[in-house]
Amino acid sequence: MAAASLLRDIFGFDGFRPGQEEIVDAVAAGQNVLAIMPTGGGKSLCYQLPALMRDGITVVISPLIALMRDQVRALREAGVEAGALTSGNTEEETDAVWAAIEEGRLKLLYIAPERLASGAALGMLRRIGVSLIAVDEAHCVSQWGHDFRPDYLRIGELRRALDVPLAAFTATADAETQQEIIRRLFDEDQPETFLHGFDRPNINLAFAAKDSPRKQILDFANARKGQSGIVYCGTRAKTEALAQALREAGHLSLHYHGGMDPEERRITETRFQREDGLIVVATVAFGMGVDKPDIRWVAHADLPKSIESYYQEIGRAGRDGAPAETLTLYGAEDIRLRRSQIDEGMAPPEMRAADHARLNALLGLAEALHCRRSTLLRYFGETQVHCDNCDLCETPADVFDGTEAVRKALSAILRTGEWFGSGHLIDVLLGNETDRMRQKGHDALPTFGVGKEFDKRQWQAVFRQMMGHDLVRPDPERHGALRMTDDALPILRGEASIQLRRDTIRKASRRPAVKALINEEDAPLLSALKAKRRALAEAAKVPAYVIFNDKTLIEMAEKRPSNLDDMAQIGGVGAKKLERYGNDFLSVITGEAEVLHPSRRKLAGRDAGGLYDRLLEVQADLARGPDGIDKPLTCSASLLAKVASTRPKDTASMARLLGDKRADRFAEAFLYVVQSED
Ligand code: ADP
Ligand code: ZN
Repeated sequence: MAAASLLRDIFGFDGFRPGQEEIVDAVAAGQNVLAIMPTGGGKSLCYQLPALMRDGITVVISPLIALMRDQVRALREAGVEAGALTSGNTEEETDAVWAAIEEGRLKLLYIAPERLASGAALGMLRRIGVSLIAVDEAHCVSQWGHDFRPDYLRIGELRRALDVPLAAFTATADAETQQEIIRRLFDEDQPETFLHGFDRPNINLAFAAKDSPRKQILDFANARKGQSGIVYCGTRAKTEALAQALREAGHLSLHYHGGMDPEERRITETRFQREDGLIVVATVAFGMGVDKPDIRWVAHADLPKSIESYYQEIGRAGRDGAPAETLTLYGAEDIRLRRSQIDEGMAPPEMRAADHARLNALLGLAEALHCRRSTLLRYFGETQVHCDNCDLCETPADVFDGTEAVRKALSAILRTGEWFGSGHLIDVLLGNETDRMRQKGHDALPTFGVGKEFDKRQWQAVFRQMMGHDLVRPDPERHGALRMTDDALPILRGEASIQLRRDTIRKASRRPAVKALINEEDAPLLSALKAKRRALAEAAKVPAYVIFNDKTLIEMAEKRPSNLDDMAQIGGVGAKKLERYGNDFLSVITGEAEVLHPSRRKLAGRDAGGLYDRLLEVQADLARGPDGIDKPLTCSASLLAKVASTRPKDTASMARLLGDKRADRFAEAFLYVVQSED
């Protein structure tokens, strides 16, 4: 069957994502292929479709067992004969895979790279009629990368032994890695190479200067209650503290870091993968093992390490193509920390210089004056960028000519011999007569007190931006004292000027607006559809998105199909899923339209109506307790209607209305909803 009709019938997608079609054609035609696509670009489809178009079995090599198992589940849900041979299999699972192979039914066989180490596996693969090898995360073959998997080195051997075409996929684009993939997997035989653009248009990009960072993260999460998200932190201790703070604010939240024992980490990964609306607060150790398409937001509580890490980490959001949001916090302290990590590292000097340059690229993005997306993608070599989905496109930066301020600051640095940090330098500029000032004789300097146009925090923002533009750097040999870089010379000499942002000097109060996934009328239906999905997923013991992803549910809530024919037109509803779940979701849609509960109907058209719907959502989230493991508990429709119309203002009156048992579970969350409506 042709690729486009398989796409429609099996996967239920109307069209290809950019780049997919050419890759599918090349792979299906039996060419050797190297495809570089961003995370979420839809790589899996590029070998799954050809697998269905070709005779014989496609072997898929992928580094993570848990992810393989999820992919196999998702394929089977779509009616595709797929199986995995991994160490995580039960005996029945392995038997079923073998039966499918023997009967000639199996189309995709996922195997873990470790398997390739045994000679038996090679013989087996030779016997069963493999016609294509697909390699996911192909950069794992690179010995210089941090994801190196020694067993990946055997893939070249496998290709030679089977003598079939090989298609390799990765999101890592740098030229050295590409060369290494070609050398190791294709024996230098140049494969057909596809390099696909790096833009992820559905991800909203935003940065904010730190200003009570914990509150900034809590506000961001509170505005996105019930959505799955990741918060990245710089330290292990912080992941625990922040996860705790999020739980206290009524979120479902877990921490994750490399210091936890492997079992605990695995549980957290699995829960995140399976559950809807969980927040994981993590160090960068969290990532490789997550392949959840419906992560709705990623926040950085601390500045990432480099522009590459930033791109990779935010890239975990919104792989399903539905809107996703990001927020990255940064401050002078982050810059100092990242610089010192590089300076104090063991790397040779030229590598350290390269690391500083990568950090500079990220700082340039943090202090950017124009579109973040263009700034980010320019770094990856893309110049044609369209964006109306970043904080700076939404609210242009408020800038001023900062040349004078920067020169004053540089002068304070130079006249004090480049031996001081920003604290003392700011005292000099403000003319603060501290003990240290008198002791060093700095109150006699011509720069003493020349900066009274700004207050302390404003000068801090100027220094932060100077560090961000790499005009000054902390010197590890001088306890982090700021020293001028060569880039600052033209400004000092009056040959160049510099624009600074005023908005980050004033209070950093700009908070990116919440992107609604869906408009207000459709929101209650979307919640109802999600509840149905959750129930079906729990019954089938699969992650929710395996049933349908967010994008599909959003489209259902907007288009409201009224029969199975219309339902089949929704993106993501393939033939098999239509048959299996079509009626379940259809009845939610048609039911919702007609049968508003009488208690709710009375509130229709009033403010309390919307409040009622929000209470209902919160109740659904908490129905099995904050960790999803308690006995189910709900409030009657008339009780909810009473809460919505009387709006209790404090815990005591809320508890009186709900009664002890329900108050325990819901009072705090309901109060939050009522208050956020006022
Ligand atoms: P990655 O490139 O990161 O491996 P995946 O293959 O996991 O990406 O795809 C990411 C998501 O995009 C999945 O949820 C997948 O179902 C969806 N997807 C892939 N191709 C399409 C398409 N042509 N139309 C709509 N959704 C798609
Ligand atoms: Zn933009």
